[in-house]
Amino acid sequence: MTAHTLDELLAEGVRGRHVLVRSDLNVPLDGSTVTDDGRVRASLPVIAKLAEAGARVIVMAHLGRPKGAPDEKYSLRPAVERLAELAAFPVRLAADVVGPSAKELAASLADGEALVLENVRFDARETSKDDGERAAFARELAELTGDGGAYVDDAFGAVHRKHASVYDIASILPAYLGELVRTEVEVLKRLTEGAERPYVVVLGGSKVSDKLAVIDNLIGKADRLLVGGGMLFTFLAAQGHKVGSSLLERDQIGTVQSYLERAAAAGTEFVLPTDVVVASKFAADAEHEVASADAIEGTAFGETGIGLDIGPETAAAFAKEIATARTVFWNGPMGVFEFPAFAAGTKAVAQALADATSAGALTVVGGGDSAAAVRTLGFEDSQFGHISTGGGASLEYLEGKELPGLTALGA
Ligand code: ADP
Ligand code: MG
Repeated sequence: MTAHTLDELLAEGVRGRHVLVRSDLNVPLDGSTVTDDGRVRASLPVIAKLAEAGARVIVMAHLGRPKGAPDEKYSLRPAVERLAELAAFPVRLAADVVGPSAKELAASLADGEALVLENVRFDARETSKDDGERAAFARELAELTGDGGAYVDDAFGAVHRKHASVYDIASILPAYLGELVRTEVEVLKRLTEGAERPYVVVLGGSKVSDKLAVIDNLIGKADRLLVGGGMLFTFLAAQGHKVGSSLLERDQIGTVQSYLERAAAAGTEFVLPTDVVVASKFAADAEHEVASADAIEGTAFGETGIGLDIGPETAAAFAKEIATARTVFWNGPMGVFEFPAFAAGTKAVAQALADATSAGALTVVGGGDSAAAVRTLGFEDSQFGHISTGGGASLEYLEGKELPGLTALGA
């Protein structure tokens, strides 16, 4: 990695300088309550190091997908309030992104203080496809730093985006790699280059089409691919089974069949569920039964039955596979863990990863919902080797794609 690092910036000295930091504060919200503050906690160390060294820190971040204009629903306020609670230095929130409030607060920052700009996506130029528009916005962001400014990218969750605050800014200000991004890249590298074997990948979640490219790239690299979550039904359909009213991406069945055929010859074994928990409807209080994977329509709910979790036999089989692994990557919950009745499969896989960590394996959890799942199910971050803060970014890295934010930093 030839990119300049945060340590190099600190060694240059930052006292009195304005440093723009791109952080990932894209937290899940319930109204204005932060339901998982993992990303805020993960972002704090870099901001704190800079503030402690006397920098005047200006944080850029996005939240959700506002439509290029201010929208109170996507205000960074809840995340910033949490950041201010955790920080040992003053943290303020601007009322706009590069407007009068941001300019005034940036200019009045004292050494060791932090300012968070409002959601960068409140400005349509942030995500514009037009290079000139993005560059103009990046210049306005850079101007907030006055003389001697610097840029630190610590938002791994956004490095796969060619956005102004991630990509364009890096060619305007001297750019440095934050520790969060560096750690993420180091861990993901260990998964793509010579992972210690056996290497087991567990995939779940809701959309097969989102994850097909990563499956494609892992065939021949992983020893075993364990499939759960909503995507398992497309795999069962590809094996010729009926899946009732479960999630099914019919147009992907052919692709999945070709993966199943290719895998064996490439030395990768797919481990598919042998049983599933079938519910009468998609609801927390739905009636449910365990059915064999080839008899999903054989329950009392017939063709209307919906598979909402992997069954106990599958959970035990997955745990056994994970126990043999030296490297485990997990993305995507095994079931609808938001409903306690359908969280058992996800809990069993999380426990198996935690046990594997204790046994010395490298375990990595990637994906926003997966990270939220392990925390809501009562696990500690320390029970896993690494919890990736960036779902899409970690998947694209594993797909072998070039990530604009990393390219811009020379990483
Ligand atoms: P991540 O954010 O970790 O990448 P995804 O966004 O792909 O994960 O998927 C998470 C969602 O998948 C969860 O909200 C969960 O409820 C849903 N899910 C898991 N299993 C099923 C299922 N059998 N049917 C419907 N949804 C499911
Ligand atoms: Mg998700």
